[in-house]
Amino acid sequence: MVEMEYISAIIVVNVAYVNDYSVLETVAHELYHAYQEDVVTWAIPHREPATVVYAWRQNFSNYYTPGSVVNGYTWGYTDYYNQAVEIGAFWFSGGLDDRYYVGAWYGYYGK
Ligand SMILES: [Zn+2]
Repeated sequence: MVEMEYISAIIVVNVAYVNDYSVLETVAHELYHAYQEDVVTWAIPHREPATVVYAWRQNFSNYYTPGSVVNGYTWGYTDYYNQAVEIGAFWFSGGLDDRYYVGAWYGYYGK
């Protein structure tokens, strides 16, 4: 049931869950996660503020997909979208319709 995921240096897109119009958006989203991984491991120079890098690093260590059960709490889609790395990736790919989530990120990603 996974539409897309980023595993190390391999981007996997399950075309059974992605239509033609969203393939590029999906790849852009996953590429941004690859970029985030490189940023948090200091593999590349970057311009993100330390607070963003810290949030991404913490999130990669505590990342959950919808339906994950953590300490008896089941993660929903809102929880998933509100994760720091997802806010960045959806901002980059332009795939998040509700810009509330972008604005919630301390205004860093603009309006
Ligand atoms: Zn993502």
